[in-house]
Amino acid sequence: MHLIEKAPAKINLTLDVLGKRDDGYHEVEMIMTTVDLADRIHLTLRDDGRISVDVDKGFVPGNEQNLAYQAAKLLKTEFGVKAGVHIFIEKNIPVSAGLAGGSTDAAATLRGLNRLWRLGTTIDKLAELGAEIGSDVPFCVYGGTAIARGRGEKLEHIPSPPPCWVVLVKPPMGASTKDIYGKLDLDHLKHPDTAAVVKAIREKNFRGICEGLGNAMEDATFGLYPEVKSLKERVRSFGAEGVLMSGSGPTVYALLQNQSRADRIYNGLKGFVSQVFVVRLLGAKHHL
Ligand code: ATP
Repeated sequence: MHLIEKAPAKINLTLDVLGKRDDGYHEVEMIMTTVDLADRIHLTLRDDGRISVDVDKGFVPGNEQNLAYQAAKLLKTEFGVKAGVHIFIEKNIPVSAGLAGGSTDAAATLRGLNRLWRLGTTIDKLAELGAEIGSDVPFCVYGGTAIARGRGEKLEHIPSPPPCWVVLVKPPMGASTKDIYGKLDLDHLKHPDTAAVVKAIREKNFRGICEGLGNAMEDATFGLYPEVKSLKERVRSFGAEGVLMSGSGPTVYALLQNQSRADRIYNGLKGFVSQVFVVRLLGAKHHL
């Protein structure tokens, strides 16, 4: 038996860091939404009970460090599953990019194995298990649009923004989320107005969403990689309505209502940056 589960990337419309907790995590508040740039997770039943993983790109671990492998192992243990699985990942999402590539692979593996192994569990249970793998995994289990709080695992689902185009621009370096958190100056963060963006989303006010985009981690990433700041300014100079770095970076994205403007940015940048994508926002949540 074999099935394929789509694993879409996310972007942050806002990312706020509220402080550091006693357990070492940072307390965050962020609006995340899924975009139509996706890995494809192929799941094939193994009768010998083993879990194996393989990726079509060399720079992602094809072993137990892979978050998809960890998701399978967790489900197998939790439900006492006898069967095994071979996981093959078609990797389309840039790695260490701020797009939750690893987390979404883990989330898609949880959804897919629920079907392949006939576990009959709920999406809420999968999200709860996903939090053990990573803070962004619960959001990726559901998809859609949500406000994430706590260390990112506490979700409040909200309606999706109005349909629009997203140009994703991934510069060549990778940003380690841990390193960027280490560089944060908690006393001098630029806090986004999350409530204002949520209001604009609910009112389908595209301009309001674009004006409110904000990421408290930008300055730390820009400090380490000044070229990401220049890239953001360059994207803005093409006339994008809203521009922001996603997650801890280094991917910068632009939101546009008009496809020809999105294409113009794509054409203007593709000679300078190897990974540029024009995609749509994905409004719908996942179902099991
Ligand atoms: P986030 O936005 O959640 O911070 P990211 O997009 O910045 O995530 P990822 O692409 O998830 O970063 O990769 C971060 C690290 O996770 C990499 O060092 C990579 O080797 C490891 N990793 C483990 N499993 C995967 C996977 N399935 N896909 C991509 N990276 C993975």
